[in-house]
Amino acid sequence: MTACTIVWLRQDLRLVDNPALHAAAVRGKVLPVYILDDDSPGPWRMGGAQRWWLHHSLQSLAKALAKKGMPLWLKKGDPRIIFPALCQSVGADAVYWNRRYTPWGIAVDKALKESLKEAVEVRSFNGSLLFEPWEVKTGEGNWFKVFTPYWKKCLAQVEIGDSLPVPGGLKSPEKIPEGDRLEDWHLLPTKPDWAGGFRETWQPGEAGAGKQLERFLVSRLSYYADKRDVPVADATSGLSPFLHVGEVSPRQIWCAVHMAAAQEGHLEKPVQKFLSELGWREFSYHLLYHFPELPELSFRREFNAFPWEQNDRYLLAWQKGQTGIPIVDAGMRELWHTGVMHNRARMLAASFLTKNLLIHWREGADWFWDTLVDADLANNSASWQWVAGSGVDAAPYFRIFNPVLQSRKFDPEGEYIRRWVPELAALDKDTIHAPWEKKIRPKGYPEPLVDLYATRDRALQAYQQIKKRG
Ligand SMILES: Cc1cc2nc3c(=O)[nH]c(=O)nc-3n(C[C@H](O)[C@H](O)[C@H](O)COP(=O)(O)OP(=O)(O)OC[C@H]3O[C@@H](n4cnc5c(N)ncnc54)[C@H](O)[C@@H]3O)c2cc1C
Repeated sequence: MTACTIVWLRQDLRLVDNPALHAAAVRGKVLPVYILDDDSPGPWRMGGAQRWWLHHSLQSLAKALAKKGMPLWLKKGDPRIIFPALCQSVGADAVYWNRRYTPWGIAVDKALKESLKEAVEVRSFNGSLLFEPWEVKTGEGNWFKVFTPYWKKCLAQVEIGDSLPVPGGLKSPEKIPEGDRLEDWHLLPTKPDWAGGFRETWQPGEAGAGKQLERFLVSRLSYYADKRDVPVADATSGLSPFLHVGEVSPRQIWCAVHMAAAQEGHLEKPVQKFLSELGWREFSYHLLYHFPELPELSFRREFNAFPWEQNDRYLLAWQKGQTGIPIVDAGMRELWHTGVMHNRARMLAASFLTKNLLIHWREGADWFWDTLVDADLANNSASWQWVAGSGVDAAPYFRIFNPVLQSRKFDPEGEYIRRWVPELAALDKDTIHAPWEKKIRPKGYPEPLVDLYATRDRALQAYQQIKKRG
C-alpha cells in the first residue's frame, strides 16, 4: 500500500518552501488540509480583518493546488476530533505539519500528537521562522530578553539553507470524505462590507506575496534604511500580512534579499537594516515562546499596579481616528481603510493611547487584533508592550513620544495626514500637525481630546508611583 500523509496547513499557506508538504510528497500520496478552529484560541479568536485575508488566501491556495490535480480539504471544528476520523477514512499513515508558536497552538498540537502517535507517524517542521525559539540561548543557557545581543547571536549561528521548490508529482488519496465549502465559513464581511479598501490594497495568496516581494526588491529596498520611518515614502516591504499566514517564508525573503545584495554592493546597508526588522519578528516569537503570557500580562510586574484608566469615550475616539491629534488619526484611519498602519504611526497611536490617554495596552492590542490584516500574536503583543514600557527590552518609560514633534519630523510636508484626514487637507505644512496651536478649528475635525503636555506629566507621575512600589 502506498504511504499517505495528511499535511495540516496553518500559517504556511504556500507550495514553495513548505517543509511539511515537501516531506509528505516524498513519502507518497498527500492530502492538504486546513481547519478553522475558532474555539481553541479563546480570546484570541481570529479577528475580522484576518478572516477576510484568510478567505482569499485559501481560495488562492485551492486554485494553485487544483492546477496540480490536488484538492484542499477544509473543515471547521476541533482538530483533536477531526484528525482521528480523517486518518481512518483516507487511509493516512502519517500527519505532518509546520510548527506554530501561539500558546493554544502548541497545546493543541501536543495533545493531537499524543493521541495520534500510536496509530500514525506525526512529524513537525520549521516553516515559519529562521531560528527556533529554543535554539538561541545566552551564554548561561537562558532565553534572551534584549534584542541586540539576541540578533547578534542569531547572525553568528546563522545557517539558512536554500528554499525548497514546489513538490513535484503530487498525488492525492482516492477516497476523500466530503469537507466544508469555504463560502459556508462566512469569513467575508457582508452587512456592512467594510473591506473595499482592503480589496484596493491587497492581493492575498502566494502569487500576491511573490509580487509584493519583487516590488520591494526592485523599487524600495535601496532606500529602505533611510526612509523606512517616513509613512508616505512607501519604503517598507508590505510583507507582514503575507508572512503572518505564511504565503511567503522568512527563508525565501532572506535568500532573495541576500541575492539582491550580492548583485548590487550598495544594497548592503538597507539589507542589514531590513533583516534586523525580520529579526524583531524572530525576537517577538522568541519572547512569546518563553513567556506565553505575553498577550495577557505585562512582562514587568510593577505594571500590574499601573493606574490605567477606563474611558470608553476616549477609546472609541481613538479607534475611529477622532482624537484631534492629526498624525494619530491618520494612522487609525489608514488602519481602518487598508488593514495595516505604517510602523511609525503604530508606535505613535499606541503611545498616545497608553501614555496620553492612560488606557491599558490590552485595549489597543485587542483593537489591532480585530482590524489588522497582519495581526500576529507575537508581533502585536511584543510591540504593544514595547511601546507601553511594560515589556521585555521596552522603550524607557520616560521617553514619551510627542506626536506633534514626531509628525513634523517624519511627515514634514503633512502628506500622510492629508491622505487620511481630508478635513485637514487645506492646511499648510506648518499648521497641519497641530491646528490648535494657531487657534484654527478645521470644519468637521475635533479639538484634541487631551492636552499633550499635561497628560505626559500625568503619565510620568503614574510611572513614578509604580516604580516606588516595584
Ligand atoms: C503597536 C504595534 C503593533 C504591531 N502589531 C503588529 C502585528 O500584529 N503584526 C505584525 O506583523 N507587526 C506588527 N507590528 C510591527 C510592525 O509595525 C509591522 O510588522 C510593520 O509595520 C509591517 O510593515 P512591513 O511589512 O512593510 O514592514 P518592513 O519594515 O518591511 O519589515 C519586514 C518585516 O519585518 C517584521 N517586522 C518589522 N518591524 C517589526 C517589529 N517592530 N516587530 C516585529 N516584527 C517586525 C514584519 O514581519 C515585517 O513584515 C506592530 C508594531 C507596533 C508598534
